[in-house]
Amino acid sequence: MADVVLKHVYKVYPGGVTAVKDFNLEIQDKEFIVLVGPSGCGKTTTLRMIAGLEEISQGELYIDGKLVNDVPPKDRDIAMVFQNYALYPHMTVYDNMAFGLKLRKVPRAEIDRKVKEAARILGLEEYLNRKPKALSGGQRQRVALGRAIVRNPKVFLMDEPLSNLDAKLRVQMRTELAKLHDRLQTTFIYVTHDQTEAMTMGTRIVVMKDGVIQQVDKPQTIYDYPNNLFVAGFIGSPQMNFIDARLENKNGKVYATFKGFSILVPEGILKRLKDPSYVGKEIVLGIRPEDLHDEEVFLEAYPEAVIEAKVDVTELMGPETYLYLDVNGVPLTARVDPRTRAKAGDVIKIGFDINKLHMFDKETEMSIL
Ligand code: ATP
Repeated sequence: MADVVLKHVYKVYPGGVTAVKDFNLEIQDKEFIVLVGPSGCGKTTTLRMIAGLEEISQGELYIDGKLVNDVPPKDRDIAMVFQNYALYPHMTVYDNMAFGLKLRKVPRAEIDRKVKEAARILGLEEYLNRKPKALSGGQRQRVALGRAIVRNPKVFLMDEPLSNLDAKLRVQMRTELAKLHDRLQTTFIYVTHDQTEAMTMGTRIVVMKDGVIQQVDKPQTIYDYPNNLFVAGFIGSPQMNFIDARLENKNGKVYATFKGFSILVPEGILKRLKDPSYVGKEIVLGIRPEDLHDEEVFLEAYPEAVIEAKVDVTELMGPETYLYLDVNGVPLTARVDPRTRAKAGDVIKIGFDINKLHMFDKETEMSIL
């Protein structure tokens, strides 16, 4: 068992910066939880408080039901893997992994068993006698993980552990970490500013901004039902399009209107409106790039959700093409089939998948669905 619970946790640094505000979270045993948000939002501070490397200004932290605010890091039964996974350059891989256990005076045979087991899990068996400089970046990062694994901690804390790796290796290590989590069956708390890492690895994601939790949920739920404009814009790439629009009732049907265009709002979405009085008001309409279409069949199927747009730029990505569009001054990005015929300078028809509309309150920026 290793659940980690934060109750009304605050961190105020000397000098008055409030880095974390009223942080409430129950991390269940064996979860892979990812804290994600832009630089400076308080992710690292939160992780360091859990590790015991930073004092908690206010609130309570429980590990396994025990209040640990005043328990020193070494007695918290956690292991932390950092972005700069400084390995000892003069020691072999084996000794790097064994070092922490030797310090703790763990018997030699047990150290040997644990190091070999970690090496097996991480695919490092053939490298045990090498020095770090004779390893690739990914292998070094695995040694850093190995050092944590041999301690058999209740909780793994990881602070952007992949950020020093090149793009390809990062993708590979993402899968390896997810597999490692499955194998170890331990609680992982992982910090990143990269929403793709968060989406692909987390069993739950905590989106933070300015020291405040914005939303906690499974990746797909956050993607499909973002709580507010910030989460909607932060999760997903290219990011969700936002359009200032007005909800209008015309002959019993509701439309989102902007720049002379009207998009039909289907019954299903209207039923989800938190307050029917939004009809008649200004709102922010959200639509993800993949929910905009330029194929003829789509345009014909949903004639009440078609607008005209000028193509500014097309970007070929291989399996898809991004169209950067201009709708009378409103920029929109569409993610379409690479066989699209649209090219820069064209004026084309674009259809909205009306079942995928998002709507936000203009003032509070909260989702109104
Ligand atoms: P990044 O992704 O850039 O690492 P982060 O989300 O991890 O950012 P933190 O490092 O937790 O953010 O910082 C949160 C806020 O606290 C920032 O405004 C930062 O400037 C401030 N801060 C961090 N450490 C200290 C410190 N030791 N003293 C004062 N302010 C600090």
